[in-house]
Amino acid sequence: MACPGSGKTEMVSRRVAELIRKGVPPSEIVAFTFTRKAAEGLKLRIRGILEKKCKEKSDFGDMYIGTIDSFCLHILKQLKPEYRSFEVLDDARRIAFVDRWYYAIGLESLRQYGMGGKWQTMKTFCQSVDRVVTEKIDIRKLSNKDFAKCLDSYHEQLQKERFFDFNSIIQTILSILEADEEAMEQLKKTVKHIVFDEYQDVNKLQEDLLEQLSKAATSVCVVGDDDQNIFQWRGSDVNYIIEFPERYGKYGVTTEKLDTNYRATEGLVYTADKLIRKNTNRVPDKVMKPYENQTRKTEKGDIVHHHFDTDEEEFAFILENMQRLLGTDFTDKYGDTYALSYRDMAIIVSSNEDAARIIGFLDGHDVKCIADSGTSVFDRPLVELATDCIFFVFNCEGYTTGNNVPDMEDLKRRYENLVTHGDVKRFEKNLLEVQGRADKIIAKGRGDWLPDLGLQEFYYRILNAMGAEDGTFDEVDMYNLAVLSSAISDYEYVYQTLRAREVAGFKWFISQFAESSYSDPRHEDPTLVDAVRVLTIWKAKGLEFPVVFVPTFVSKRKPPSWPNFVDDSLYNRARYDGDVEDDRRAYYTAITRSQKYLFLTGAKQRRIVVKGKVSKREINPHAFLAEMQNRYFSPLTYVNKPKSDKKHKISTEGTFPTSYSELSIYERCPYDYQLRHVLGFNAGVPAPFGYGTNIHNILNLIHSNYIQKQKIPDDKELGRIFDRMFYLRFAPGIQNENMKKAGYKVVKSYVDLHKEDFKRILETEKRFEFPLGQALISGDIDLLKKVNDKGEVTEVEIIDFKTEKEKIDGKYELDHSEQVRFYSYATRLSLGYKPQKALIHHLDTHQKDYVDISDEKLEETKARIEGKVDKILDGDFQAAPEESKCSGCDFRSICSFKNFDVGVNFSQAKSAKREGSVRTDDEQADGTLDVYTGQSKNPAVSTAILEKAKRLAQKNIIQVDEKTFKVKSSSDPNKFYNVTDHRCDCRGFRTYTYRNPGSVPTCSHIEAVKMFGKDK
Ligand code: SF4
Repeated sequence: MACPGSGKTEMVSRRVAELIRKGVPPSEIVAFTFTRKAAEGLKLRIRGILEKKCKEKSDFGDMYIGTIDSFCLHILKQLKPEYRSFEVLDDARRIAFVDRWYYAIGLESLRQYGMGGKWQTMKTFCQSVDRVVTEKIDIRKLSNKDFAKCLDSYHEQLQKERFFDFNSIIQTILSILEADEEAMEQLKKTVKHIVFDEYQDVNKLQEDLLEQLSKAATSVCVVGDDDQNIFQWRGSDVNYIIEFPERYGKYGVTTEKLDTNYRATEGLVYTADKLIRKNTNRVPDKVMKPYENQTRKTEKGDIVHHHFDTDEEEFAFILENMQRLLGTDFTDKYGDTYALSYRDMAIIVSSNEDAARIIGFLDGHDVKCIADSGTSVFDRPLVELATDCIFFVFNCEGYTTGNNVPDMEDLKRRYENLVTHGDVKRFEKNLLEVQGRADKIIAKGRGDWLPDLGLQEFYYRILNAMGAEDGTFDEVDMYNLAVLSSAISDYEYVYQTLRAREVAGFKWFISQFAESSYSDPRHEDPTLVDAVRVLTIWKAKGLEFPVVFVPTFVSKRKPPSWPNFVDDSLYNRARYDGDVEDDRRAYYTAITRSQKYLFLTGAKQRRIVVKGKVSKREINPHAFLAEMQNRYFSPLTYVNKPKSDKKHKISTEGTFPTSYSELSIYERCPYDYQLRHVLGFNAGVPAPFGYGTNIHNILNLIHSNYIQKQKIPDDKELGRIFDRMFYLRFAPGIQNENMKKAGYKVVKSYVDLHKEDFKRILETEKRFEFPLGQALISGDIDLLKKVNDKGEVTEVEIIDFKTEKEKIDGKYELDHSEQVRFYSYATRLSLGYKPQKALIHHLDTHQKDYVDISDEKLEETKARIEGKVDKILDGDFQAAPEESKCSGCDFRSICSFKNFDVGVNFSQAKSAKREGSVRTDDEQADGTLDVYTGQSKNPAVSTAILEKAKRLAQKNIIQVDEKTFKVKSSSDPNKFYNVTDHRCDCRGFRTYTYRNPGSVPTCSHIEAVKMFGKDK
């Protein structure tokens, strides 16, 4: 039982580390968290403890740490391989899914029940489905038979499209475990120790899963704080944690109390504790104590409440204190002192409407702020303008213009106001050009599919019309605009290929789901962006900030409870609606986010606009104020502190989970990394997306079957595996079938050629995780093989599979040699094997490229990776433009650093081939001469290149004309590289300047042509 700031995560980490130290295999431990971010923080801490206590056991890549839904999917994929192509839809994507299949599911039949229009009906439907599944209500008992029918169709459609939602995945696993003894037995072998973080947020379905898993487990440890149960509106029940000792009493439960708050000052602890003590339904005799040795003391002005006359005065007070605190000294819990920046300040609100109002005020005063969730994200004027431009282009109802299509004159006026240094004439011309492109597609009638990269590419052209390519927008503007990119991806993810007419639905999609979504951004830590964060209480959970503002802390009317399709008599409806104790827990959670400064404010009068009429209402301070006010509260105070001479701190937690492929994007171009992983822009998805993953999944299954049963599939069985597992979500119909046939051929010939070698297989898709500096790097090695089969496994061969078609998979091509070296390093450090050989296995050609994994090379790789991590954490995102990279870059349309213009031109939108970051060992030159001009800036070309060139020059060159030559590939006799006018079309040439900035590119083929010329 914990209190805020008491080190819950540390406790969980120590427990897990202790289990491992005592010899429990990591594969037998499962740790649940409610967010991906929390899981990553946990991993990093466990690793830290193990590194200190028992370094030899510090690998735990086999242990599951993550969210419940992804655990269920992970288990399901193991138990039933046919589920390997299934995915879990989050809230946002689920709304898009329900929209797409609205008529097929039969939702139109529910309109008669008066829940509102189409979108409100969809929202109520999703909420009702969640209640039925979470509360395990028998569908036959539902009095609304139309709803029951839709519920069935919804689950069928999910299955058909290979999706689950958050609840249906748990429901599926539960029914398998309840009905299938063999599956339960299999699970018993792997889930022996369970740790459940933030257990107070558990709902009935999740609790049932825990109960099932407990039957197989040796130990169960749940950690939580009943006072921070704030998700009752989605089914969590505080009684599960309060009654845990009783419910699991038969196993013998021990309760440990974590009752010291290390995060906050004494005054904050006292204030929060005073508030929560008024709740009656909580763990008896619970206390929260301040940390005795806390270096931060409560000072006058740290905790302030004031009830202003108007909200303008209230917001002005917040703004003034922000500016006064900015740049002053702050000492964190580790004793580090730094200067406060905007990223250290949070405004925590109880509704999206409040968030939108305060954001509007701060925007008007040039204070950069970002909102992670809610409608406020989409209600930023710049985002609204971009959104309305989308609807203008597709000639449908605007986001802010009611039933009307946005008007160009209005868009121009808003553009002029918002983008003060923009060129409004150019904006108009370019936007009309984009509209012209959309018009042509709309004119196709039934064939109005958006081509290439879909709506995302249109969005990028619109951003260009607004000036993105000229660097018009700063980091915070780009962060906000990126949220729209993320919403487009969600919408298109479910629609797969969008029609022009379906763009109209995107308006409703963002207005509806934004209220509950984007709660766990998919991109990296927003603390890398220097801006004030505006969050709802529910989103702020688990975070901490030196400075917290809680505005509109006033008495509020409880919103009326919205009806749904489930009979109240079938479940405890009142729990979902919440009561005063739930409100108290919510505010308790908000104020315990603060490490030192807490400003609770409100206003007596507030302008309320109802049907166009402005009215003012007298409002009292929140009733909770009287419950918590105490000697630590200061009267109306403006902070007055000297500015610090210290630097700002960028990453608050230092938790930085990443992978080789993410880091390789940084290597390719740091600005690409920033756009993608810090700001959150998404790339359009090409049709063959997922081909490589499918092939890897199938190979993994074949290898696993061999490890477990020594079984190699024959042609028929392989065909069945492909039928069950191969699925390209974005390439329906014939395209999927063709890719499946191609994949089958590749895998079949791999199996035919290598079945004799299967006995050397050691592990397949081997997961690893290890920290490097402040990062936790994870990955999967395709195949580990024993070097010999005499029984002693001390040396291994690492194989990384590549297929040619992966290149059109929508991903950048990686530097495979560096990747394999990195995996070799991970194998040694994290898995305890000594890799002797490492190779890249090209599945299409059966070519094997051996990679140098000498100690020296591995150390070089490690140093390069560490360097990248440090730069990312230092916020160094300097663009590295180069034509070869920029022309294949996902963000070439909106990047202002490249040396060519895209503008609103769609001809560059094709995604087919991404190249530019490729480097292969044989073509990697470490120096060159400009063989044609003799004006070299480079050191001499390496001996290896010259040797190879010499061989090629002897008999492998065909002269086409004066300037054009064909040079035969040294590895594939049927392949020729074209050397024309000082340029070669091989990979090494394309990537040469990437590796050797400022140098004139060359390669072995150009060197060979030079020698060929001389010989002649
Ligand atoms: S276009 Fe070029 S400079 Fe811009 S992000 Fe892409 S690779 Fe970097």
